[in-house]
Amino acid sequence: MRLGYDEKTEAFRDQLVAWLEANLPDSSLTVERPTSSADIPAWARQFQRQMFDDGWLSPAYPPELGGRNADLFEQMVYLEELGRRHVTRSFNPQGLGIVSASIVSFGNDEQIERWAVPIMRAEKTAALGMSEPGAGSDLASLATRAVPDGDHFVVNGQKVWTSGAHDADVLLVFVRTDPDAPKHKGISALIVETDTPGLDRRPFPDLGGPDQVDFNEVFFDDVIVPSTNLVGDLNDGWRICNGALAHERAMLWVMWSQSLDNMLDDALAELHGTPHADDDVVLDRLGRSIMDSHAIRLLGHRQLVLLCSKLATPVNHAQP
Ligand SMILES: Cc1cc2nc3c(=O)[nH]c(=O)nc-3n(C[C@H](O)[C@H](O)[C@H](O)COP(=O)(O)OP(=O)(O)OC[C@H]3O[C@@H](n4cnc5c(N)ncnc54)[C@H](O)[C@@H]3O)c2cc1C
Repeated sequence: MRLGYDEKTEAFRDQLVAWLEANLPDSSLTVERPTSSADIPAWARQFQRQMFDDGWLSPAYPPELGGRNADLFEQMVYLEELGRRHVTRSFNPQGLGIVSASIVSFGNDEQIERWAVPIMRAEKTAALGMSEPGAGSDLASLATRAVPDGDHFVVNGQKVWTSGAHDADVLLVFVRTDPDAPKHKGISALIVETDTPGLDRRPFPDLGGPDQVDFNEVFFDDVIVPSTNLVGDLNDGWRICNGALAHERAMLWVMWSQSLDNMLDDALAELHGTPHADDDVVLDRLGRSIMDSHAIRLLGHRQLVLLCSKLATPVNHAQP
């Protein structure tokens, strides 16, 4: 059996490829690289905005949110083509992939217009404030406290590992709003502007070296956050945490399996004409890696088909 997509999906691919060929930034511009995961160079901001305006940034969304109502197979093809060309949709991945996506899923229209759309159009950048010194894998133990007081919350506590916070305009922060409730039931999600008084971001380097600065400690000292910045309902933050993490994981495998394919193609090209090209051990290792890469892709396709049958989407892309 040869696996492929139907005509509608292939027509979508043709449209995308034509758009990419016409709009991918010139390589003379892309030499300017980001310094953190919330630092977007000017050329990349322009490209991200163009993707949004032309409906290619988040194809599953409707046009007013930077998409074109793409179905699951079209989304797959989209990720394949971007991965093949090493295209980065946004250099603020947690802003686009988690924060704006969570606001679209759980926020209200005003929040979508005020934060989600500007993040998607690269006019603002965002970071994700989940982890704390005492709350990593056990995220529900988070202790940063937000006390409702009239039309605002007063936030005190500390986050850590907050990628890109020092360059971000806003944070999506998970806070404890009911300390007496069972731990999963007393959490809420707040959008906090990073220039709010009392908020202190302290970037620190990772193991990569002193100039690899993306992580932050973020301290909240009586930070006043308007009640209108509450995303979803009070104490319903655990549902939003899970939604946010699902956004992070969704379809990630497509890009990674494409990167692995690209790497193996590069390795094969490098090997060509060298003494190793006839080395059975080297070829055997490469062959195994190529099979593993196919296996990852097939496992992913299998999950997609299972998901489609759950959603009752017709699966008509398998051709003999
Ligand atoms: C590159 C990178 C970027 C990140 N960016 C962000 C960000 O932007 N925002 C943010 O909020 N966080 C971020 N994080 C933090 C990340 O989500 C945390 O590392 C995660 O929450 C785990 O927490 P921890 O490091 O405290 O590990 P711990 O929770 O202390 O876990 C340490 C080890 O113990 C194991 N372990 C924990 N509990 C159990 C158990 N019950 N049984 C058995 N084993 C267990 C874990 O598997 C792990 O191996 C980032 C992390 C990385 C690596």
